[in-house]
Amino acid sequence: MADNSTDFDIVIIGGGPGGYNAAIRAGQLGLSVACIEMRESGAFGGTCLNVGCIPSKAMLHASELYSAALNDFEKLGIKAKVSLDLDQMLKQKDEAVDGLTKGVEYLLKKNKATSYLGRGEITGKGKVTVHKSDGGTEDLKAKNIIIATGSEVTPLPNVEIDEQQVVSSTGALSLKSVPKHLVVIGGGVIGLELGSVWRRLGAKVTVVEYLDRILPTMDGEVSKGFQRILKKQGMDFKLSTKVTGVEKLKSKVKVSVEPADGGDSEVIEADTVLVAIGRRPVTKGLGLEAVGIETDKRGFIPTEHFKTSVDGIYAIGDVTHGPMLAHKAEDEAVACVEVIAGKPGHVDHNLIPGVVYTWPEVANVGKTEEQLKEAGVDYKVGKFPFAANSRAKTNHDTDGFVKVLADAKTDRVLGVHMIGTGVGEMIAEAALVMEFGGSSEDIARTSHPHPTRSEALRQAAMGVEGWTMQA
Ligand SMILES: Cc1cc2nc3c(=O)[nH]c(=O)nc-3n(C[C@H](O)[C@H](O)[C@H](O)COP(=O)(O)OP(=O)(O)OC[C@H]3O[C@@H](n4cnc5c(N)ncnc54)[C@H](O)[C@@H]3O)c2cc1C
Repeated sequence: MADNSTDFDIVIIGGGPGGYNAAIRAGQLGLSVACIEMRESGAFGGTCLNVGCIPSKAMLHASELYSAALNDFEKLGIKAKVSLDLDQMLKQKDEAVDGLTKGVEYLLKKNKATSYLGRGEITGKGKVTVHKSDGGTEDLKAKNIIIATGSEVTPLPNVEIDEQQVVSSTGALSLKSVPKHLVVIGGGVIGLELGSVWRRLGAKVTVVEYLDRILPTMDGEVSKGFQRILKKQGMDFKLSTKVTGVEKLKSKVKVSVEPADGGDSEVIEADTVLVAIGRRPVTKGLGLEAVGIETDKRGFIPTEHFKTSVDGIYAIGDVTHGPMLAHKAEDEAVACVEVIAGKPGHVDHNLIPGVVYTWPEVANVGKTEEQLKEAGVDYKVGKFPFAANSRAKTNHDTDGFVKVLADAKTDRVLGVHMIGTGVGEMIAEAALVMEFGGSSEDIARTSHPHPTRSEALRQAAMGVEGWTMQA
């Protein structure tokens, strides 16, 4: 029988930041490429553009302005009558998503990538079947396959997410009204960002976290300082606390909690509960068994330099190890395609910056103090508070600090941690210095514009050698 399969240099399964960026880079390098996406809406862009980074940032931005108008404008001499139009706020969020997902479609076309809507299934080495969204199947032949199927919400055992009363991050991005009391299960980035959105819009927010601190993978001093700031803003925390049950009533949800290491239980009543305990890789229906790829205990596809255990099959982004972040998926997309094209390609997971887009923001890159201590590395610390930064003082926005960690002997920067307005932008400078193996002195002796918040990074870097000048 004739083989009618369409032939590609690369077939990519998944159209998120990993998948679509891989398709763009492949097109740029002159490779024939297909990208398959199974999202019901038919939109490319993955979790990030559809239900992740972009809609959450649209809501964070709008709610931040609303909160500033309510609480800060008067101090600046601005009088305004402010009220919330939640429908319009949700609409502008949807418009941002729509504009950007259409942008991805345009970029795929521009780079001559063939798009397929449907579920991609690996049916053998070099073979992918598309189960098309509009019915039927199509077989593709692929010299190389890239798995970029991303991640999904980790459910809480015995808790049904109905996206109305008990929501995941997806439901929390589209609540029809502001809950009186929102209980957030999980004190990680997503819980704190979405908790902040609804708190600013008027909800009482209680964060329940199993561990004894929020943002458990971040530098300890940052996570403590940040919790203090959020508490001052009105967010409540129940740390070292485990959720033992969630009961839905007609107009309420009862959340049963108890101390993580045992003790008396307590019931918290809420209107809405957000389950934000993490994300897990998506590999269901992908056909890994057909080629003998095994996932690890947590469901991730192990890779060595993007290569899975099977020749010609690669995995990138949230479905494999490393920080579950859009820019990590993008970096791996570029490097993986370049490896396939015979070029060198590498991603250092230690240098993927992380940002919490709250107000103020939190940002980090490299090692935490705890990690350096554990590894027995001799390091020096330079710190600078935004309370001493001229721009922060001018703007009456002085919460937070910058901390630079550098090797005690070589002065090489090992980690940078920040809390403060705008630090999500500032962290890229630290990442660049670290990519080049730069020292704290490199930052300290580089001219930074005045008056800007970036001067706080310079002053903190000066502090590593003990010559901070402005505090
Ligand atoms: C609320 C929220 C906020 C976030 N905010 C940020 C942020 O601010 N910054 C940041 O860096 N990261 C953020 N993230 C994380 C970020 O969204 C992910 O790290 C990123 O999307 C991972 O990209 P990916 O391409 O690996 O996977 P995904 O974006 O998950 O894309 C995978 C795609 O593959 C598709 N797919 C799966 N299986 C198949 C199949 N068999 N066939 C065809 N298609 C398939 C899925 O439908 C999906 O669209 C956020 C996540 C959430 C949930």
